[in-house]
Amino acid sequence: MTSSDLALVTGGTGGLGTAICRALEAAGYAVFANYHPAEQASALAWLDSQKADGFNPGLIAADVSDYSQCEQMAAELATAGSVRVLVNNAGIVRDSTLKKMEPHQWQAVIDVNLGGMYNVTRQFITPMMDAGFGRIINISSVNGQRGQFGQANYSAAKAGVHGFTMAVARETASKQVTVNSISPGFIDTEMVQTIPEPQRREIINNIPVGRVGQPADIANAVSFLVHPDSSYITGINLPVNGGVFMH
Ligand code: NAD
Repeated sequence: MTSSDLALVTGGTGGLGTAICRALEAAGYAVFANYHPAEQASALAWLDSQKADGFNPGLIAADVSDYSQCEQMAAELATAGSVRVLVNNAGIVRDSTLKKMEPHQWQAVIDVNLGGMYNVTRQFITPMMDAGFGRIINISSVNGQRGQFGQANYSAAKAGVHGFTMAVARETASKQVTVNSISPGFIDTEMVQTIPEPQRREIINNIPVGRVGQPADIANAVSFLVHPDSSYITGINLPVNGGVFMH
């Protein structure tokens, strides 16, 4: 691995993104955390906190739902090195039962969670295939596997992530580019920490391993899949959910 081997994590300054960036840096990659351009101030504060903790990621702006911004992001990254690892992690929710779901709530979730994966991956697929190495990891969700009340948009997008994963895995396998998805279960990020204790307890009671997941649980799965020894694993969906959904 050289200092110009890059790993790009979309939505890299978020809860899971931060743990994934740190794991990829530990694996020897020069990591770039992508963030939405509207969030520059918080991205810069995030960068300071990473540096204070001894990490050294780069930051790169782009709205993943905008193809031309993703093209621009790829052009900027090309001046720093070659993206060998791509983690499509950026995601949003706009929850509502379908009875009340407005077209903008549907579209926003599809555009970021599913469209974003196309917009970003499209930029790096040819260079990875030409180089004869690549690791693409798409962050899906247990709710894309089993459906979730109030999340028709999110569940549809996250189920679509795995269809995309399998199709692209077939297109790239002969060039040593693997494409896999990870489906996290209930992970202890800011969103989850705001859930009142009684509800939280009930959720934990339904998780066979008896605890919520930690961001590091997802980052460990990413580390496993990006490792050169994982070259025979492609097109899978790896559930990391404490046993909450098995099939
Ligand atoms: P998070 O909100 O902390 O992180 C998501 C990040 O994506 C944020 O930094 C956000 O700014 C960024 N983002 C959103 N829209 C963007 C856009 N258009 N362009 C660029 N960046 C954008 O949430 P998280 O919990 O860390 O989630 C990370 C991923 O994991 C998401 O795809 C989410 O759906 C998935 N996931 C999370 C959980 C969980 O329990 N936390 C469970 C299953 C799946």
